[in-house]
Amino acid sequence: MPQSIEQALIAATALLTPSSDSAKLDAQALLLSILDKPRSYLFSWPEKHLTEQQEAEFNRACQRRLQGEPVAHITGIREFWSLPLKVNATTLIPRPDTETLVEYALGLELPHAANVLDLGTGTGAIALALASEMPNWQVLGVDRVPEAVALANENQQRLNINNATFALSNWFSAVNHKKFDLIVSNPPYIEYDDEHLSQGDVRFEPLSALVADDDGMADIKQIITMARDYLATNGYLLIEHGYQQSVKVQEFFAQMSYSHILTVKDLGGNDRVTLAQWPK
Ligand code: GLN
Repeated sequence: MPQSIEQALIAATALLTPSSDSAKLDAQALLLSILDKPRSYLFSWPEKHLTEQQEAEFNRACQRRLQGEPVAHITGIREFWSLPLKVNATTLIPRPDTETLVEYALGLELPHAANVLDLGTGTGAIALALASEMPNWQVLGVDRVPEAVALANENQQRLNINNATFALSNWFSAVNHKKFDLIVSNPPYIEYDDEHLSQGDVRFEPLSALVADDDGMADIKQIITMARDYLATNGYLLIEHGYQQSVKVQEFFAQMSYSHILTVKDLGGNDRVTLAQWPK
């Protein structure tokens, strides 16, 4: 007879503990996605037995996790800003850190029907979070990876968020010269030799979404430079960056003649997002 929910979770947690520092949560998330139930189900029905098929599926999922594959790639879903987003290996997995950018953007004083651009949208996480909160905003998300644009479109349709659209574009290459009230981006910003690239989930994410030349600053600088042609008067540019990059990002914003330059910390207390207004 297959194991009960409780037995399966205990065994999986023990199996995953040597390779994951979130073994228990991983096991719970993997089992929930197979049972297709809300989290409370695990604690309401611990003695319920899995079917043989569920048990086999759970074992396969745990084996994949044991090889290091991110939970989000195994379940195919990651929640961001309470939106269940489809994810796959073609884009970055949305991070809680990035919710800092969303939260700050939502608090800005912007026109009622603001035009918003998300550069390097990946799953569409930032664009969809902003569009879901602000039905009067028009949000365009762009990515240079066709698979990412397809994924973002799929997420938009599944979530039925109709004021967000997505397009293929290498930063601004295919963006019309229209003016945006707000431009946001979580660009690649990690240095090539950063040791954390060889650890954990990032090993399974596309390098093109993670690393940038010039100590991780190349894409950030390009965006700050080019955004000046696409911002409405007093429009805002918000960029996520590494915890040690805020001074460099601020300096570059100043060099490019932006005003009201400000850095915001993430929930972990690290500098994470720097914003500024155009023009001076
Ligand atoms: N914050 C991510 C990490 O450290 C990187 C995201 C990015 O490069 N945009 O894994």
